[in-house]
Amino acid sequence: MSHVAVIGAGVMGLACAYDLLRKGHQVTIYEADDRVGGMSAHFDFGGLSIERYYHFICKPDKDMFRLLADLGISDKLKWRPTKMGYFYDGTLYEWGTPLALLKFPRLSLLSKLRYGFHMYLSTKRERWQPLDGREATEWIKRWIGGQAYDVLWRRLFELKFHRFTGNLSAAWIWARIKRVGQSRKNMFQEEMGYLEGGSESLLVALETAICDLGGEVCLNTPVEQIENEGERLTGVCVQGALRKFDAVVSTVPLPFVPRLIPGLPEDYLARYRSVENIGVVCVVFKLRRGVSDNFWLNVSDTRMDIPGIIEFSNLRPLPQHVVYVPYYLPQDHPRYQQPNANFIVEATGHLKQINPELSDDDIVHVHASRYGFAQPICPPRFLDNLPPIRTPVRGLYVADTSYYYPEDRSISESVRIGREIAAML
Ligand SMILES: Cc1cc2nc3c(=O)[nH]c(=O)nc-3n(C[C@H](O)[C@H](O)[C@H](O)COP(=O)(O)OP(=O)(O)OC[C@H]3O[C@@H](n4cnc5c(N)ncnc54)[C@H](O)[C@@H]3O)c2cc1C
Repeated sequence: MSHVAVIGAGVMGLACAYDLLRKGHQVTIYEADDRVGGMSAHFDFGGLSIERYYHFICKPDKDMFRLLADLGISDKLKWRPTKMGYFYDGTLYEWGTPLALLKFPRLSLLSKLRYGFHMYLSTKRERWQPLDGREATEWIKRWIGGQAYDVLWRRLFELKFHRFTGNLSAAWIWARIKRVGQSRKNMFQEEMGYLEGGSESLLVALETAICDLGGEVCLNTPVEQIENEGERLTGVCVQGALRKFDAVVSTVPLPFVPRLIPGLPEDYLARYRSVENIGVVCVVFKLRRGVSDNFWLNVSDTRMDIPGIIEFSNLRPLPQHVVYVPYYLPQDHPRYQQPNANFIVEATGHLKQINPELSDDDIVHVHASRYGFAQPICPPRFLDNLPPIRTPVRGLYVADTSYYYPEDRSISESVRIGREIAAML
């Protein structure tokens, strides 16, 4: 039996710890935050416990379903038919079905057919490898043409990926089209999942199982350094003291790793440093009145610097209307330096532009959360540059959400990677 330190109590760290404990290892989890969950953590939103960042579940999220079953909480998973909309230049259109596409007035019939065909084939494609070396915007333009790209994709890319837009992997963009595209009852009805009680239901079940199995969860305990002498792991430095472990699993964002494990070979550190991330400032509203009846509303409007809004209460039934307005920004973008209050004022204006009946009196609570590492940026052949999860230091494993590639970020993918690391150990 080994004593393993897991750094980070996000879903990846928790899933890894859970499996290690079930294999009979002793596990200590260190988490810098005051709660478990990382990006999927909840907060107290005026008496409502809800995710800082919106979380929905798609039908291909199989690793999550397996973990829910192992924890005995599969009954918490609920599916609901959802609607998608498109707020385009001041008008709200239906979106997300073949009929909605045909009715959309801003595209020629040929562009619509090309766009629809590309979406359909993307959900049917099995292999990502042929797209790995291709650049995403070039791949999309080739399929759907310049007009449909300009109308439907250009702003979405620019507002989500900014300066990275022209250098993204087509395999990575395809994987997100497929994940959402496959979450349907049929061609005419999208269906998304949520957990009763939110992501917290999974986090509480995991934390409880970990503690029941004898695991130790240390909150408010950032790891200062993981130390090694060449290929030998010497320990984990916490609160100024070095603690010995047989193995260490780091699940913190890769850009933190060079500072956390400076003793790794320089070529590893350089590759961790080279992974770029996009940050997010996410404004969440609790409202007396809904914005629309869509769960997901794409936005393409020159007055608004957002790719869309997520009206979460149109997926998960909640006592009041809850709407997330995400601003995706690189951390070095001048806008990211602005205080949360600016984003709140701006997002309030956007909601009123989308639904002019909304007034300040409809706002019950509003809050903004931000995170600098909302998602790694994956250029073509992204995996070629990623160091292996098993490092040259014996017993030291390093991963983060980059290792989902080509999959998009999801709780399910963190479960998969966390469990894969536990299996490697
Ligand atoms: C805006 C947004 C929307 C999203 N929407 C969805 C969605 O709809 N569906 C979905 O499935 N997923 C969604 N995700 C993604 C999902 O939340 C993540 O993929 C998943 O939670 C990542 O878990 P993780 O454990 O790999 O990483 P993280 O959650 O980042 O966990 C890493 C942990 O390490 C801790 N840490 C960092 N440094 C240290 C240190 N030195 N010592 C100790 N601890 C440290 C951090 O505090 C954190 O808790 C979304 C994410 C964001 C940001």
